[in-house]
Formats: sequence, structure tokens, C-alpha cells
Amino acid sequence: MQLTREVMRGNAQTALGLVDPSELGSTLMHEHLLWNITAPARRHEPLKEPIDTGRYWDHLNNKINIPANTTQKDVSVAIEAVAEIIAHGGKTIVELTIGGLEPDPAGLAAVARATGAHIVMGCGHYVDDLQNPSNQERSVESFAEEIIAQVQQGAWGTDIRAGIIGEIGCSWPWTDLEKRVLAGAVIAQQETGAALTIHPARHQDHPWMLVEFLREHGADLTRTIIDHIDRTIFDDDRLFQLADAGVVLEWDLFGQENTYYSHSDIDMPNDGARLKAIRRVLDRGYRDQIVISQDICHVVQLSKHGGHGYAHIYKMVIPHMLKRSFTESEIADIMVDTPKRLLTFV
Ligand SMILES: [Zn+2]
Repeated sequence: MQLTREVMRGNAQTALGLVDPSELGSTLMHEHLLWNITAPARRHEPLKEPIDTGRYWDHLNNKINIPANTTQKDVSVAIEAVAEIIAHGGKTIVELTIGGLEPDPAGLAAVARATGAHIVMGCGHYVDDLQNPSNQERSVESFAEEIIAQVQQGAWGTDIRAGIIGEIGCSWPWTDLEKRVLAGAVIAQQETGAALTIHPARHQDHPWMLVEFLREHGADLTRTIIDHIDRTIFDDDRLFQLADAGVVLEWDLFGQENTYYSHSDIDMPNDGARLKAIRRVLDRGYRDQIVISQDICHVVQLSKHGGHGYAHIYKMVIPHMLKRSFTESEIADIMVDTPKRLLTFV
């Protein structure tokens, strides 16, 4: 069944259906509960090499990069993860496992039923390298049509609908296929009234290229989130330029403090540095353009394997924010009010 825009307007949409946005509460805006980020060439490998928790640091820094670390398809593990979030004060999880990452809508619905959490599912396609090769032939219109149907009718062969568009994937250099998917996603944003969330390329100039692209294509910047600011933007000129443009800035790698991120030339900040950057954006007056999350997508990041775990923001970051002079009302803007605004269909 197709839900019309009129029916959806003013509601949020979870894996279990439409909900009143005032029900959402504290929200993690960028997580993965059931995912596969293994390189396609290695997906056939059996998961015989297990996680060695005694070598946590090596797993974390990709010295041991094995499919058992980059795949999590077990619904019972996801239920445990979400129960951990709920036990520490979270209520809603935005789950952005989309095309290329093996999305499991029925699994997410099962997790929502078992835990009472609101799970908002993403849609669209991740980076070029992980997309189905048949996407190379597809047009902007074909992607737009698919994403609109994922929001209004159901996604990935189910009748479970997406509540946000993205994380639309971009690489460096930005590929033609990724531009077509994003152009389709912008049309879907215009047609459905959903928010759009974008995984930028790992290059400090790419978020601004996105803003220019989004303006050209008529996106609603106030309902567009630039993800992974923590590994992409390292100077205030670029940071403030983005904030001034009106997009929402997402620091979604809280808990990841490794210097050896992706073995690139990126120096990943620690949580303290993230909070200082957020403070500077708040002080510039943009308290309704900031969201945070953890983007957990490696098995060793789970608390059961010695990682920071899904409740990290609740257990560590929010108490630290209070010590670092963030007010309760600023934290409520970041955790509750801005997610609620974004997840409410317009
Ligand atoms: Zn993600």
C-alpha cells in the first residue's frame, strides 16, 4: 500500500509504522544494527576466523580486517545492542544500512518489537564500490522512483517503509553513479518530505561540493544532514561555511578515537575535540543544526567485545558534556529536538 504525502506529513515513520514525533525522545541519528560492510570481493568468505577480543586494538585499527568484524546480521545481537541503548536513556535509533550494505528491514522490525525502541530505517544506496554493479546503468529517475517507493510503499522487497533518505554514499573522487543516486535522492526528498542524510567523501572540500550540488538540484538544505563531520572537516572556516549554508552537521563517530582511521591522512579527533568543535558551532548560534551518533559498524566496537558500545553517548559523552558546560537545553536540542524536526515529514 502506498502512503500519500498528506498522510505522512507531520508524522515520523519507523520500521513499525507512523508515529507521533513527540514519541521519539532521545535519538541516535546514525547507527547500524544489522549490516555488512565487507568488501564485495570478500563476502563469499566463510566467517570462520572469529573476532579475537584479546587483539581488540589490532581489530580496531584494521590490522586484522576480517569479515567477522565487518558483518553483523544476527537479530539477537542487535536486540542486545538496542536494549543497552534503551537502558541508558535512548529511545530512537536511525538505522542507515542501505543498498550495498545488505539492509534487513524485517530484522529491524523484529528488533523494534522486541525492545520497544523506535527504529527509523534509511534508504537509497551507499558508496559506488559497494553498490550492485547493475546500478551503473541506472538513471537519476530510476533512483528517484526507487527511493520514493522505499519511503511510501516499502523497501528491499518488504512493506516496511523508510523514515529518512540515506546515508547516500560518496567517494573521492566523487563518481558519476554516486551523483546520479544523490540527484535521485534530492527528487525523493522533494516528493516525500523526508530528510536526507549524506555520507560525504573523505576529503575536506567535499561537503561544500555537496552544498553546491544540493543547491543546484533544489534540495532543502535545512532538512539535509552532512554526516561524518569528525573525519572530514578540520578547520573552522569550512565548518562555519557549512553551518552558514543551513545544513545540519553530524558528528557521528563518537567513541572512535583511533589515529589510524582507514589508514588515510585523516587524524580522527577524540570525543573531547568533537565537543569543542560542537561548542564553537553552538556559540555561533546554530543550536538547531547539530546532531550526534556513533556509527557503529565493526563488531569489535560492541561492548561485548570490549568496545565502546551502542550506549557510549549516554554513558560517557552526555555526562562529559554537562561537565564541559553544555546546558541541559543544548543537549536536548542535539539529542531530541533537532532529530525530531528532521524525522518529521513535511
Ligand atoms: Zn553509517
